[in-house]
Amino acid sequence: MEMDQLVALCKRRGFLFQSSEIYGGLQGFWDYGPLGVELKRNVREAWWRDMVTAHDELDVQPGAPATYEMTGLDCTIIMHPQVWKCSGHYDLFHDYMVDCRESNGRYRYDQLQGRWAEVDDKRIFVAVNVSGDEALKETQRKAMKYFNLRAKNAEKLHWDGPMVDLTTIENLAEVLGPDAKTLGTLTEPREFNLMFESHTGAVRDESSKVFLRPETAQGIFVNFKNVVDSTRVKIPFGIAQIGKSFRNEITPRNFTFRSREFEQMEIEFFCKPETSQEWYKYWRDRRFKWYTDLGLAGERLRLRDHDPDELSHYSTGTADIEYAFPFLAEGEFGELEGVAHRGDFDLRSHMEGKLDPNSCPLEVEKDEHGQPRYRGSGKDLSYFDDQTKERFIPHVIEPSAGADRATLAFLCEAYQEDEVPNDKGKPTKRVYLKFHPRLAPIKAAVFPLVKKDGMPEVAKEIYRQLKPHMNVFYDEKGAVGRRYRRQDEIGTPYCITIDGQTLQDGTVTIRDRDTLEQWRIKTEDCLAEVQKRLNA
Ligand code: ATP
Repeated sequence: MEMDQLVALCKRRGFLFQSSEIYGGLQGFWDYGPLGVELKRNVREAWWRDMVTAHDELDVQPGAPATYEMTGLDCTIIMHPQVWKCSGHYDLFHDYMVDCRESNGRYRYDQLQGRWAEVDDKRIFVAVNVSGDEALKETQRKAMKYFNLRAKNAEKLHWDGPMVDLTTIENLAEVLGPDAKTLGTLTEPREFNLMFESHTGAVRDESSKVFLRPETAQGIFVNFKNVVDSTRVKIPFGIAQIGKSFRNEITPRNFTFRSREFEQMEIEFFCKPETSQEWYKYWRDRRFKWYTDLGLAGERLRLRDHDPDELSHYSTGTADIEYAFPFLAEGEFGELEGVAHRGDFDLRSHMEGKLDPNSCPLEVEKDEHGQPRYRGSGKDLSYFDDQTKERFIPHVIEPSAGADRATLAFLCEAYQEDEVPNDKGKPTKRVYLKFHPRLAPIKAAVFPLVKKDGMPEVAKEIYRQLKPHMNVFYDEKGAVGRRYRRQDEIGTPYCITIDGQTLQDGTVTIRDRDTLEQWRIKTEDCLAEVQKRLNA
């Protein structure tokens, strides 16, 4: 599947629109249309139900070391600025960027790559802002242009070595920027904090500065004590939250994959230090299974353990759940979710003050006067186990997923093309979205074959039977084949058609989106039949 086809379908059928499109759009911001909003709600609801409300606290779940409890929270987007100082986001949450003095382009330093090109004695590094095969083509095109070469004397151009990251190049004066015509226009890399800033109250000064949260996790940590004090949860337990996060990404791209406003679905799972490794393994596998259960079952999904050198030293394990999005080069995967063992780093930082992530054992980071660089809350965030009479700071396992990236992966995976006979029996191309029924925006469509002979009346009755229980669509316009096709294209798993036979024997046909199989059921059984299949 080409990404362009999916992007076009998303726009045409109302899944996703560019934000503020009539004004030319705003880079990195996306709106979910009438079908997109249902799809994303279904993703969020599946997550919340599977992780929180339907979680069975009485039985040990497969692969889990013990029973556990789950509960939820909904915290504010703007929080006390000290939260971000202690969490490390204020100091450390940045990317490096480079600017181009010629084109005014701004790039993420670690995303540019290129190769050394040589013509006669001149050697330059051609940098591009794309990856994979496209990067090879783009460097070729740029080098030919720079050296003023025609296709017939292309052999004069030699490549010296493979594609490498710009970060490996020492002298930026030898670099041709992605959108530049001359050499050496890229500035030295500079830090760029990804947090959006705002102010509270009427006075806009340093003291009123606040940040839009770049992750939902911190809201959970700072409420840890509230949850323990106000409920009867006992360790091990998890707190889940779904909500908007904001990151001023330098180069938002790849549709909704890297947006500046997005939604996260995060769990902070609190456990005893001794059992934390087992819980880490459990969550890693549990979260992977969640995606496979909902249809990302193929080779495009993988679980990748971080190499030891990728880990912060306080984390004894991190794994990413990744999907081979079609906009990535062959063999590349994009992160859907990170599952991290975070030790006691976060709770201790909010107690004692920002910990220095490079210290071992972890110590509070000090300023030039030997005082904590950022003071913690001073509140006791330890946990007292009233059975063992032990007091300890829980360790944390954090499965952190993106609702938009999951939605995009489900869309990519669902996109299918095949050939089916049209109304005249001629094989014609069909595009359909093979969503898991739980995720499908519309669960069933109801069609009277023709708009007469009492068919619409029966169809409307069935529609009313189903509607209180699920999202159902009624359509009586146009040829029935076209109506089927329109539902296939938005991923509706079942179509119910009322025809001449209905009026005689009270049965209707029900059609499966994927197999195209059709069978007859009694009019009054429609709800039970669709519900049975949705829950199968
Ligand atoms: P990346 O390396 O791709 O920027 P990250 O490792 O910074 O991601 P985390 O901080 O671990 O991401 O955030 C957890 C999840 O939030 C990610 O796995 C992803 O699903 C989602 N997420 C993070 N940044 C974005 C974004 N800019 N747009 C959409 N989703 C995002």
